[in-house]
Amino acid sequence: MDEFQTIIGLEVHVELFTDSKMFCSCSTKFGQQPNTQVCPVCLGLPGALPVVNEKAIELCIKTGIATNCKINHEFVFVRKSYFYPDLPKNFQISQYKDPVAVSGYIVVKGNKIGITRIHLEEDTGKLIHDERAGNWSYIDFNRSGIPLMEIVTQPEISSPDQAVDFLMELKRIISYIGVSDCIMEEGSLRCDANISVKRKADSKLGVKVEVKNLNSFRSVKRALAYEQQRMTDLLKSGQPIIQETRLWNESLQITEGMRTKEEAHDYRYFPEPDILPFKIDPEIIKKVSEEIGELPVVREQRFIQQYQLTEYDASLLTSEKSIADYFENVLVYYNKPKQVSNWIQTELLALLKENHCTATNCNLSPNFLAKIVKMVDQGIISNTVGKELLKESFLTGIDPENAVKERNLVQISGAEELEEIVEQTIKENQPAVNDYQSGKSQALGFLIGQIMRKTKNKANPQIVREILQKKLSEGGKE
Ligand SMILES: [Zn+2]
Repeated sequence: MDEFQTIIGLEVHVELFTDSKMFCSCSTKFGQQPNTQVCPVCLGLPGALPVVNEKAIELCIKTGIATNCKINHEFVFVRKSYFYPDLPKNFQISQYKDPVAVSGYIVVKGNKIGITRIHLEEDTGKLIHDERAGNWSYIDFNRSGIPLMEIVTQPEISSPDQAVDFLMELKRIISYIGVSDCIMEEGSLRCDANISVKRKADSKLGVKVEVKNLNSFRSVKRALAYEQQRMTDLLKSGQPIIQETRLWNESLQITEGMRTKEEAHDYRYFPEPDILPFKIDPEIIKKVSEEIGELPVVREQRFIQQYQLTEYDASLLTSEKSIADYFENVLVYYNKPKQVSNWIQTELLALLKENHCTATNCNLSPNFLAKIVKMVDQGIISNTVGKELLKESFLTGIDPENAVKERNLVQISGAEELEEIVEQTIKENQPAVNDYQSGKSQALGFLIGQIMRKTKNKANPQIVREILQKKLSEGGKE
């Protein structure tokens, strides 16, 4: 495909972390009974007047600053008119000429990807097509009026992989600064893409196709890869590419034509008469910038330098703010970055995922994890006991240090005590001993396993191995 060039631009919609909706005081809580969080404003009843949620504006400004945008000090809301069942007013309050933020960028794996604009609007209701309803559809207006931020990139993304990298970095930034949880599965981050493919030698831009219904990072990647291939094949066979909107069909893993794009859709934008133009006090911009704190990409670099972590470790630990905070909190109690990083990656992350919780709200406090790692490092408990304690403390909140004292979990490292157990194990497992002595080295692992079981994982496996090898080679000489 070297002969061809792909150009992708993204439109990302992010639901903002506010308690109430964009223009009314209805709750934004996800997962409630349909149509229980509605009022005349978000149902678009005649005469209802919108009141702007200033928190939403602050969050949008915050995103603008964190993505290196220029913040407009004055902006207006407009009415974007169109007719669709999920939009009861027949217009959406949005922004057009003067959005909250413009001309920014984020750095994705060393490449700058430009951001054209970030604007605020209200979400629409949600249409639910359920088989049980036959030819009918349901509408849930709980989503109607939820503050929505639209982020539009420059057409500068050159591959489906880079599009996903961009989204992951954007998600990392936005969740870091507390603007949204960005859960694609719950619809708090949604993405449409524009893609075109042209021959490199061709100076004319390629025909753009819009791809919708991308509900996960994986579908973004697959849908764009599918389109890239489809358009390349068309070019190769000399067929025209039609400017259109296509839907990603997740079950068939293909895109399907939805509608050909009218050249310019007439949304009849005009200023929203019920909301005055907004003037942003520079004090607010200052306050919001101070709230941003260290951005993930900066923190990642600091982790590499300050703690001598690998790029991989640093990027994993800074993937979420709560994990990065947790890591640094553990270091307050036990300052061994590499070891702590390993325990978080191999044990804690899996438990968090399994139990659907975050590092902030889990039972295993940073102090407790520090205690476990330290006890293992000092040889007080074995690695296996450490892992078991970590899991138990995670589930129940017990203090691992107390558990070690109360249940006598201290590692057995005394050669005398272990020698006795090793000898007994050798006696009880003659077939394995014979195997080992006839050259089957894996029998050693079996014997160590037997000893670990006998001692309830308290034996120091390193010392057990040494004693065992010695005894077995002595036995071999007899
Ligand atoms: Zn409402």
